[in-house]
Amino acid sequence: MYSLMHGWHGKLLRVDLSKAKAQTEPIPKAILSSYIGGRGIGVRYLADEVPPEADPLGPGNKIVLATGPLNGTTVPVTGRYAAVSKSPLTGTVFDCNSGGSFGVYLKYCGFDAVIIEGKSPEPVYLHLTPEGASIEGAKGLRGKGVKATTDALREKHGKSARVSCIGPAGENLVLFANIENDYHHALGRGGLGAVLGSKNLKAVVVDAGEKAAQVPTSVAHPDALKVIVQEINKRIQASPMTGKGLKIFGTAQLVNLMNAMGIFPINNFQQGTHPEADKISGDAIIEQIFQSNTACHMCPIACGKLTRTGTGEGKGPEYESVWALGADCGIFDLEAVTNANYACNELGLDTITAGATIACAMELNERGKLPAAWKGVDFGNKDVLLPLIEKIVARDGIGADLALGSKRLAAKYGAPELAMQVKGLEMPAYDPRGALGMALAYATSNRGACHLRAYTVGAELLGLPKIFDRFSFSDKPDLVVKLQNGNAFFDSIVACKFTGMGVPDDYYSRAVSAVTGLEITITEAEHIGERIWNLERLYNNAAGLGRADDALPPRFQNPLQSGASKGHVPPMDIMLNMFYEIRGWTDEGVPRPGTLQRLGLKPLSKEA
Ligand code: SF4
Repeated sequence: MYSLMHGWHGKLLRVDLSKAKAQTEPIPKAILSSYIGGRGIGVRYLADEVPPEADPLGPGNKIVLATGPLNGTTVPVTGRYAAVSKSPLTGTVFDCNSGGSFGVYLKYCGFDAVIIEGKSPEPVYLHLTPEGASIEGAKGLRGKGVKATTDALREKHGKSARVSCIGPAGENLVLFANIENDYHHALGRGGLGAVLGSKNLKAVVVDAGEKAAQVPTSVAHPDALKVIVQEINKRIQASPMTGKGLKIFGTAQLVNLMNAMGIFPINNFQQGTHPEADKISGDAIIEQIFQSNTACHMCPIACGKLTRTGTGEGKGPEYESVWALGADCGIFDLEAVTNANYACNELGLDTITAGATIACAMELNERGKLPAAWKGVDFGNKDVLLPLIEKIVARDGIGADLALGSKRLAAKYGAPELAMQVKGLEMPAYDPRGALGMALAYATSNRGACHLRAYTVGAELLGLPKIFDRFSFSDKPDLVVKLQNGNAFFDSIVACKFTGMGVPDDYYSRAVSAVTGLEITITEAEHIGERIWNLERLYNNAAGLGRADDALPPRFQNPLQSGASKGHVPPMDIMLNMFYEIRGWTDEGVPRPGTLQRLGLKPLSKEA
């Protein structure tokens, strides 16, 4: 027996911006137990309510902000929340999750999720309290960056308020605009900031008040939870990665390792290693710009790095940002890369897609594909970074092309093969020729090229939880499926994946069981993750995506010519066939009826 009073509120808030109306409604128990929270609940509501062919920037699209059952408990790394929508960059179902403390304060307001739909005729922001919601005018915030917006709203509503907002990039519908919360935490990929911009929604303020913030989530088995929390904390401290590495060096500690392994992409993935990589490494960040550590709510890992350059200050850069705005553009100047990172954060841009799209433009220019207006957009030219970011945000001149991402840019200038993307989402900082599991993970990710759906780098390079041969392929489809399912569950509870470097997954399924009172074994957790993954696939299938979209750019069929990953290419067709077989999908990548039945899913019609 369990009560839905444990772990969840059982309630969502539906905000219709066209009608300027907000009202609560119950979340059916079957949805909570089958989809858990965060990404899972968001995908379920999106699939039910947004037609797969909807215009992502039209009023028919919706965005779901969702918490999970562990938010507001003592379980470490559970200060996060998820956002789910149809992406304007990829046209696929898309989820992001972000740290800080906004997610917990959203839950303190008494909602498991908020569904935002319609479009306001004027710029507005949403103000949520435990008493309800109001839609407030935001004309005075128009054009403001993330810090100014957050400061203004906290000035008005008090320091206990938490703010999630868009910058000018989201207002101007840049296809890779972020939503940023708590100043410098990002729902960072797929252009969900542009979805808010298309709805004229500048920000969401969660205003639980000081007192409400003291009220924890109800827990079914507090004594059991106490033991599990102690075990998780012990594991976090004992692991070299979560106990030391991330805390001391942050994520950028990966630069030197990936460079040594030959999978650190240089100049738009033309090489996999560079002699100057150390200049933008985690060590360089600590020595030159580090100020102090920062942590998300309930996080003992504290991987965040507050930094300062000669002209600015902020958070990061993280590994992916230092690569995208640095090495991928042939730039190894830490000051320039960090300032570009600050600008992206303040204006509300995804650093990976911003850097990768600039890198794509640099290669187009190198190959003589661009007109004179692009003069100076060259690999290694640090002086173009900030001006290009500003042009992207304003959609000014060549910035209008860049604002659409690399796939559209490269297609416009007659060289689509030079966009390093899958399904329109730019690839992150691991060359898939040096980790064949990542090749399959990128190709089959439901939101486009992403390292967070199945981070096989953990097994292939870091030996977590055990080492796999990074150049083997026959063991990778199984690994990728397992990680995809596990991460879909993890994104639904909603917790930070970095903890997985030190804590086995079953600790978190035990924590969910203790909090909710449901019996969620690791097998059941994987089953729930598989259900979510297949529902996402059904949505993408109904939106017109299939096997042809599960593909890497042609560059990756040619081996790297130097470095420790020289000479390898991923056998994509063979791996894809094995992957579809394990998933129970047809040769075209469509879930078979028996698979759907086993997971309790039904086919989606084009009309949601
Ligand atoms: S490990 Fe880093 S990103 Fe994850 S919750 Fe902790 S501080 Fe946030």
